Formats: sequence, structure tokens, C-alpha cells
Amino acid sequence: MKIYDIAVVGGGPAGCMAAIRASQLGKKVILMERNEKIGHKLLLTANGRCNLTNTASIKVFMEKFGKRGSFYRDAFSKFSNHDLMDFFKTHDLELKEEEEGRVFPITEKAESVVDVLINVLDEYQVRILYNYRLKHLHKRSKIFKLSSTDNEVVTAHKVILATGGVTYGFTGSTGDGLTIAELLGHHVTELKPGGVPLRTREAWVHRLKGVTLENVGLSIGYGGKKLSLPQGNLLLTHFGVSGPVILDMSHDIVGLMEKHGDLKLYIDFKPGLKVENLGAQLMDDFNKHTKKSVKNYLKIHLPNSTIIPILNNIPIDPEKKLNQITKKERLKLQETLKALPLTINGHLPLNKAMVTCGGVSKKEIDPRTMESKLVKGLYFAGEIIAGCGRRGGYNLQQAFSTGYVAGDSDL
Ligand SMILES: Cc1cc2nc3c(=O)[nH]c(=O)nc-3n(C[C@H](O)[C@H](O)[C@H](O)COP(=O)(O)OP(=O)(O)OC[C@H]3O[C@@H](n4cnc5c(N)ncnc54)[C@H](O)[C@@H]3O)c2cc1C
Repeated sequence: MKIYDIAVVGGGPAGCMAAIRASQLGKKVILMERNEKIGHKLLLTANGRCNLTNTASIKVFMEKFGKRGSFYRDAFSKFSNHDLMDFFKTHDLELKEEEEGRVFPITEKAESVVDVLINVLDEYQVRILYNYRLKHLHKRSKIFKLSSTDNEVVTAHKVILATGGVTYGFTGSTGDGLTIAELLGHHVTELKPGGVPLRTREAWVHRLKGVTLENVGLSIGYGGKKLSLPQGNLLLTHFGVSGPVILDMSHDIVGLMEKHGDLKLYIDFKPGLKVENLGAQLMDDFNKHTKKSVKNYLKIHLPNSTIIPILNNIPIDPEKKLNQITKKERLKLQETLKALPLTINGHLPLNKAMVTCGGVSKKEIDPRTMESKLVKGLYFAGEIIAGCGRRGGYNLQQAFSTGYVAGDSDL
């Protein structure tokens, strides 16, 4: 039976880059993918536009992966964001930079990214086995034996597990690699959602699904303390809230929820205005526009669709004229504009998260090569590795960088 130099399991960005790098080095490589195509999840990224990396420095990249982000120092140095951008440009895919350093293909199509990967795999004659779902992995006399769910056997000197995490399972990433790693003695850390929308108790929020509150200040109340979140857009959904800030901070928020139970999310509609200045503005306006209804007046402060639900919630009669509003009501309105409280009482399930936070423990992986410290010749790349990055192209760069490093190491 033919023994490959390297068997790469998983045709996502990590596995494809691992296979490409290994074949560039002249290795005999086989890539196995359980689907009939590669890059299923990649096609969904950034709503099909694929935010493939970021122009940030390596220091920022490491910070985006939290406490143990320095684990990726070697990977992000050996195959940096600039190397990744050059890779795509060399293969005729121009890129463009958008706000916050996010990088996208100029075509705004994730398919263009997948097409480059397919073409380069083809150029280096990587053998791809589609519809191959790895079930068992054994090592005997320095040779790995891989068997699929259909009992198709492949043998190789080195194996790179790049089977992803457990979110958006319909794309093929259902955690098979994690189970296999555990059977080989690896510790898999608790799997938690990264980049997940949150549930709110208030039904009026659900009814405003699709409304975006632009550039609001946000903070989380827990156990008598407050965690300030970055200012940004908040998307109201049929179950609660989402949007860039929530997705970015959800990992920390879910952590707080685990400790403290339900949390408060405070929305500041006037983040640029101190509470006393807002108070003075309200007093002034109420004196000037005495005959205006409060619901019409609030159009300068709130998105139209939110005015009546928010007033009902305080409660203030939306039809009341400004000169009929009591001092108590005005102060309550002022408080609401600065800190409208919602109750966070859950999050969408792990399967609906952008990334899996958790996976094969980094302590058991050599950061210079991505090789297992427990099983010689076994490597990990991409989301299968514990931890997760924030939004902004950091996770795909992690997949490409770790894939490159795993494919780059000597046999
Ligand atoms: C909706 C969405 C949008 C996202 N947008 C972005 C973005 O814009 N920018 C960003 O940086 N990140 C984004 N991410 C995260 C990013 O997609 C992942 O971090 C990245 O795809 C991980 O790459 P990977 O190669 O490790 O795993 P995956 O992309 O999950 O690939 C793993 C592959 O392994 C295959 N596989 C699994 N088990 C087996 C098996 N037993 N045998 C054979 N094959 C197997 C799977 O079918 C799959 O093709 C997004 C994620 C989601 C869900």
C-alpha cells in the first residue's frame, strides 16, 4: 500500500494551506475532506465576502486571541498576514482593505478565495479524497493508519488534523477531530461559543427584529459591577441582540453569565453626551417645544421604530405633550436615553457561534511546529486548537498560519 508523506484531514483553510505548503516542499500529500467540495465554511465567511485577514501587527493578532495568544507568535511570524496577502495576490486575486484593517478579496466573493486554494492544490498535484470522513486514526511502527466511515484506509508518515471546531455543523465541522485527538490521549478544553448572539428577556426587543441602533454605548451590569463594551452598532433580532460589538465581546459576556446568571445590558443612545448635559438639553427643549408630543420630540434622540416601545416601557404616554411631562418622567427619560436596561438571559447555542472557543489543549502542542507533544508525527491546524480569536479576519489568518506551519515542518 502507498504510504503518503503527509495525510491532511479537513479541507478548510487550515487543511488546504497545510497541504499546499507540504507539497511545495516536495512531499507526497493527500488531503481528505468529508464533503464533496472543500471550503464549505469558508464560503459563508463575512456573509459570503470572506474577511480573510487583517492588516494589524503581530502583537495585535496575538492580543485578539486572548490570554494565551502568544502561542501563535511563531505561526503569525512564519506565515504572516502579509505572506497570506502575497499568496493570494501572486495567484491573481487582488485584495482590498476596509475599516479596522479588515482584508477582503476585491471580488467580495469568498468563492474567489476557495478557487485560489483549489487551483494551487491542483498546481501542486495534491491528491484530494472527497467524501472521505475520517473515523479512526492509529499509529503503528511509526506509520499512521487512517480509516474512513466507509473503511477506506490511507497510510501516512505524518498526519495533520485540520477538522475545525463544532459550529455550523452542517458545513462538516462537527468535532470529529476533537474526538480522535481525545482517543489519542489529548485533552480537549471545554467547548464554548465565540462570536455568538445573545438572548434578551424583553419581548419588545424581539418585535423590533432587523433594527440597528447605530453607534450606541454599551455596558454589561453584573454582580454590582459594570463592564464597558466598545461603542458600536447593536442589531435587534427576534431573540435578542447581535452586531459587531456583541459578537466580539460575547465570549467575555458568556463567561460572566456562567458566574452571575442573567445580566443587564445597558444601551447609551447619547454616548458623546454627559448625563448632566443631556439633562440640560431636555429641560431646554421641553421649555421651547411645549406643544410637541414626546413621541415626536424623541425622533432627534432615538430611531423611529424604538420610540413607542421605549416610552411604553418607562412608562410614559407617547402622546403626552412636552409641557405635560412631569419632572419624574423627564428624569426617567434622561436615565433611559443614557442607560436603557435589557436583560441578557442566554445566548444562541454553540452550533450558531462563529467560532469554537475550546479544542485541543495548546499545552500539548509545540507552537513552533504545531506537532503534538504526545504523539510524534501528529499535527494540529486551525480551529481544532483550543481558544478563539475575535472578529476581523483573525480566525482565518490563524487557520492559514497554523496550516502553513504544520505543513512546513520536517518529517
Ligand atoms: C458564519 C461564519 C462566518 C465567519 N466569518 C469569518 C470571517 O469573515 N473571518 C474570519 O477570520 N473568520 C470567520 N469565521 C471563522 C472561520 O470560518 C473559521 O475560523 C475557519 O473556517 C476555521 O478553519 P479550519 O480550516 O480550522 O476549519 P473549517 O473551516 O471548519 O474546516 C474543517 C474542514 O474539515 C472537514 N472535516 C471535519 N471532520 C472531518 C472528518 N472526520 N474527515 C474529513 N474531513 C472532515 C470539514 O468538512 C471542513 O471542511 C466565520 C465562521 C462562521 C461560521
